[in-house]
Amino acid sequence: MEDQTRKVRIAISGGGLAGLTLLNGLLKYPHLSVEIFESATNCSERGAAVSLGINAQNALHELGPVLEEAVSLAGAIPYNSSRAMIGLRPNAGSIVIELKGDGSEKGVHRAALLSELLKPIPQIMTHTNKKLIRVQECNDGVRLFFEDGTKEVFDGLIGADGIHGYCREYILGAEHAALKPHFAGFWDCRSLVPIQKAKEVLGEKYFNDGLQHAWVGHGSYLMHDVLDNGETIQCVSSVETDENWSLGEWKRDFDAEGLKEAFSKWTDSPILEGMIEVFTGSNSDLRAYPQWEHSVHAPTYTKRWVCVIGDAAHAMTPWQGSGAGVALEDAMILDTHLQLIKDPHQIKSAFQAYDQVRRPRTQKPVDSSKTTGRIFCGRGPGVGLEPEELRKSLCSRWDFIYALDMKQHKRDALDAFADLNTQSVVD
Ligand SMILES: Cc1cc2nc3c(=O)[nH]c(=O)nc-3n(C[C@H](O)[C@H](O)[C@H](O)COP(=O)(O)OP(=O)(O)OC[C@H]3O[C@@H](n4cnc5c(N)ncnc54)[C@H](O)[C@@H]3O)c2cc1C
Repeated sequence: MEDQTRKVRIAISGGGLAGLTLLNGLLKYPHLSVEIFESATNCSERGAAVSLGINAQNALHELGPVLEEAVSLAGAIPYNSSRAMIGLRPNAGSIVIELKGDGSEKGVHRAALLSELLKPIPQIMTHTNKKLIRVQECNDGVRLFFEDGTKEVFDGLIGADGIHGYCREYILGAEHAALKPHFAGFWDCRSLVPIQKAKEVLGEKYFNDGLQHAWVGHGSYLMHDVLDNGETIQCVSSVETDENWSLGEWKRDFDAEGLKEAFSKWTDSPILEGMIEVFTGSNSDLRAYPQWEHSVHAPTYTKRWVCVIGDAAHAMTPWQGSGAGVALEDAMILDTHLQLIKDPHQIKSAFQAYDQVRRPRTQKPVDSSKTTGRIFCGRGPGVGLEPEELRKSLCSRWDFIYALDMKQHKRDALDAFADLNTQSVVD
C-alpha cells in the first residue's frame, strides 16, 4: 500500500542559477524532499555578471525573502540607467537608447550569487560530481542514472542542466530538430576589471553611479557595467560573425591583437582604444565564447515526471540580458505548483501546467534577443548606424519582458494546474 504520509521526492539536475534558485524556494515546503545533482565538482562556476531586470526581481520576491537576500548579499548593484551610444564617427557619442531605471534592475557577479544561493541549502541535499546520463520511468517514479554508476529513484525530476545537459534529450528524443542549441552568429569576450584601473584609462565620466554604458559599431559592440558593490567593472565586447562555430567548441583563446582585429572597422572611434586597454590591461587570459540559442523551439518542456527549466528549456543570446531572469520566473512558477502537490501523481499535472504558461513566455525572448544583437552590432535591417533609426528600433524592445504582471502570471499558472488536475481526476 502506498504511504500517504511520505514526502514527495523531487530531484533537480544542475546546480546553476535556475536549479539553486528553485531549490531555495522549495526549502519552504515540509511536504517535499528535494535534492540537487550537479555534474561539476562544485556548484559555483566562474563567470561574469548577470543583470536582473524588474521581472527577475518580481520573481525573486514571489519566491521569498531568502532569495532577495541572496542577491543583496552577493553585492548586487542597482542599474540606475543604461545608455548606449554610437561608438565611432561621424555620430560618435550620439545616444541611441537611455533606459532610466527605478533602481529595480540589478547587476550581480554570477559566481557571487551562486555562492550565496548555496549557503541556505543543507549540504545533505546537494550532490556534486553527479552527471546525469540516463532517466528511466519505473513503478515508483523515475530512476536516474549517473556517470559514476550510481542510481537514484525520485517521484519527479526537474532538469536545470543548461545547454549541455541531458534532460532536454530525455523529453524530446535524441533525434528531435529542437534538441541541440545553434550558434547564433555572435561571439563575445568578457573581462572583470578593478574600477579604479578603468577610471584611470577612460576617465570618471563613464562611471557615474550605476550607469551601464554601451557603444554600437560596425558589426560589433562594446559595453561596461559596475559590479561587486562598485569595486569592479565588467567589460564586454561582442562581435557578429559569418564564421560558424561547431557545437562542442565552447571557447577560443584570444588576445589583444585578436580584439583589435575584430574591431578593425571601428576607424576613428573615441572609445575603442581605451576600452581595449582596460580589457587587456588586467586580463591576459582572454577567451571568446560563442553565443548559443535554442532557435528551434521545443514543442514541450515536459514528459510525464520530468520537466526542463532555464537554459535547458530556452537558451537565448545575452543581448536582452534576460536568460537568467526568465529562468528565475520558471523557478517561481514551479515553486507555485509544487507547493500544492499532495501526492506524487500530481507532479505530471504540475509540470504540464508549468509548460502551458511558461513556453509562450520564454520562447519569445529567444527570437527577440537575437534581433536585438543585430541592431546593437549596427546591422539591423534598415537601421544600420543611423542614430534615429537605432533609437526607434531599440526603445521598446524590453517592454514585453519587464511588463509581465507576475501575480497574474501566477494566477494563470494556478488556474492551469487546477484545470489539469480536474481533468486527470475525471480521466
Ligand atoms: C555571456 C553571457 C552573459 C549573460 N548575461 C545575462 C544577463 O545579463 N542577464 C540574464 O538574465 N541572463 C544572462 N545570461 C543568461 C544566463 O546566464 C543563463 O540564462 C542562466 O545562467 C541559465 O541558468 P541555468 O541554471 O538554466 O543554466 P546553467 O547556468 O548553464 O547551469 C546548468 C548547470 O547544470 C550542470 N549540468 C550540465 N549537465 C549536467 C548533467 N548531465 N548532470 C548534472 N548537472 C549538469 C552544469 O554544470 C551547470 O552547473 C548570460 C549568458 C551568457 C552566456
